[in-house]
Amino acid sequence: MKAVKYYGPGHMELIDMAKPAAGPGQVVVKIMYCGICGTDVHAYSMPGIFDWELVPGHEAVGYVESIGEGVSGFLPGDRVAVGPPGDCGQCYSCNTGHPNTCSHAFPNTLGIGPGTQGAYSEYVLSKFPANELFKIPDAVSFEQAVLFDVMGVGLHAVRRSRLRVGDHAVVTGCGSIGLSVIQAVKMAGAGVLIAFDPLPSKRAVALKAGADYAFNPSDAQDVEKARAILSHAGGAQVSFEAAGHPASVSTCVDLTMAGGQVMLIGSDGRPYEMVTAALGPKEYDLKFSFTYTKEEIHILFELIAMGKLKTDIYTVEKAPLSRAVEKIQALASGTLEVARVLLSPEMDN
Ligand SMILES: [Zn+2]
Ligand SMILES: [Zn+2]
Repeated sequence: MKAVKYYGPGHMELIDMAKPAAGPGQVVVKIMYCGICGTDVHAYSMPGIFDWELVPGHEAVGYVESIGEGVSGFLPGDRVAVGPPGDCGQCYSCNTGHPNTCSHAFPNTLGIGPGTQGAYSEYVLSKFPANELFKIPDAVSFEQAVLFDVMGVGLHAVRRSRLRVGDHAVVTGCGSIGLSVIQAVKMAGAGVLIAFDPLPSKRAVALKAGADYAFNPSDAQDVEKARAILSHAGGAQVSFEAAGHPASVSTCVDLTMAGGQVMLIGSDGRPYEMVTAALGPKEYDLKFSFTYTKEEIHILFELIAMGKLKTDIYTVEKAPLSRAVEKIQALASGTLEVARVLLSPEMDN
């Protein structure tokens, strides 16, 4: 079968490899779409993310092709999503309600962990089906379900926050994660929701996703407008940082009320400078949010099935699996701007 292998930064190749077979407790999935995640693009562009060889692809959908001995809960032909969290279910984090912070999850996650075979391929072997396969409801299409990684991160961040009905919220960064946050914040019953992004096109989509205002964080007048809108409480009760940029963290902190919460979702290698003498008197609650849980994938699929979360605001481009390298290069260089490229092995046939 065809697969795309990562050998190191800037080096990925379309290869032939043996089609996997399901051993006891295992499931083979025929891939219909696999999203190219920002993580894959970063790994291709810079060292330090994947320091090992692997077949990437951790956000995929497809049909159960075959099941090994002793597998329960899945049958050939089932429509499933394949991906993280891959948590172990046994460690302290897993047993205390924080499975997304399981330290065993990362190396075990297919398409991320060292030497794993992810879904940039025609078929994928799930060694831990109970942890990494999720049935897709009939009312949710493959094209919708494959967005689970993008949408799960936003849903988790809002569920982790203390946002209450009527609270005002700020979201900085209106990429695909930001849009997911905006949708979840709106559903959680926020009062005023102000989104920030430097790009007019992203601000336009933020309004479609449910933001009440969409401003440019680099425009001082826009920031003052936001401050005036939030003046009643002296800022937003909760701000969500979804751009992964130090300046975006500053916008969030700046527009959060004293005692308010700043939820940091974006990740960035650059240090963020904090002047405690300036921030301390405001008693901000800084909180981090990372990925999502298995339960949240099921919640997400229900919300999509009920039409409560939109999927048509995320721009996608379908491409044959054989063009994965070219698409990653285009995403890395910024010449291609879409929420997700969906790799399709079928498009090669
Ligand atoms: Zn991802
Ligand atoms: Zn664990």
